[in-house]
Amino acid sequence: MSHPTVKRLWALDSPTFTLDNAILMVGATGTATVPMPAYLIEHSKGLVLFDTGLVPAAADDPEAVYGPLAQFLGLQFSPEQRLDNQLQALGYKVSDVTHVVASHTHFDHSGGLYLFPEAKFYVGTGDLRYAMWPDPAGAAFFRREDIELTRSYNWTQIPTDHDLFGDGSLVILHTPGHTPGELSLLVRLPSRNFILTGDTVHLRQALEEEIPMPYDANTELSIRSIQRLKLLRESADATVWISHDPDDWAELEHAPKCYE
Ligand SMILES: [Zn+2]
Repeated sequence: MSHPTVKRLWALDSPTFTLDNAILMVGATGTATVPMPAYLIEHSKGLVLFDTGLVPAAADDPEAVYGPLAQFLGLQFSPEQRLDNQLQALGYKVSDVTHVVASHTHFDHSGGLYLFPEAKFYVGTGDLRYAMWPDPAGAAFFRREDIELTRSYNWTQIPTDHDLFGDGSLVILHTPGHTPGELSLLVRLPSRNFILTGDTVHLRQALEEEIPMPYDANTELSIRSIQRLKLLRESADATVWISHDPDDWAELEHAPKCYE
């Protein structure tokens, strides 16, 4: 069966953190340098962004935006990697983006939300409230300012899966656990299919061995969602693209190259 498809997918170039793997997966050792990509998707009915990375201003002054966290996480962030500059380099204006899907509301995914006041926003039910009052263990992952700036924006909360344009080419997936409303995204392209995970899972090993992340809001739900990704990988014949996985980033193409 052949499905309708989106036209193109870009993984936008991204700043990196260098951090202990133990932050990304229970029981992991060593360190990794990980990207924080936003993904741009061209569909005949809209230009869709999945996640928004870090605050653009942090490229110039990381401490001013993130305080001591910037150094603790070994932030490397060049001006070319700003989300607004990445869009511009592909020939788009920020106002061309019509839909923004927030995988979740952690700071390394929410920094550019404010750039798109005219877009329609989608977030998993419960995530916006949780960002304002998280459990203490994971509270450092939220930057309330990023969310506050979008308070008047056009947000829709997604309580379940949602087929964004009704043609099966772009399906928002309900994969809670990492945060209460964590979302993934199934993207069908002419050449291949992807499941963009957001932070439903953080490393390839965590996917294969079904291992949660230490700061997940709900560990049991996280493991179920990882299991769900594996089932969908089979049924949709899709490549799982783990946002923060350094091997996925190294092997898969990023902007200006795209998948069609
Ligand atoms: Zn996260």
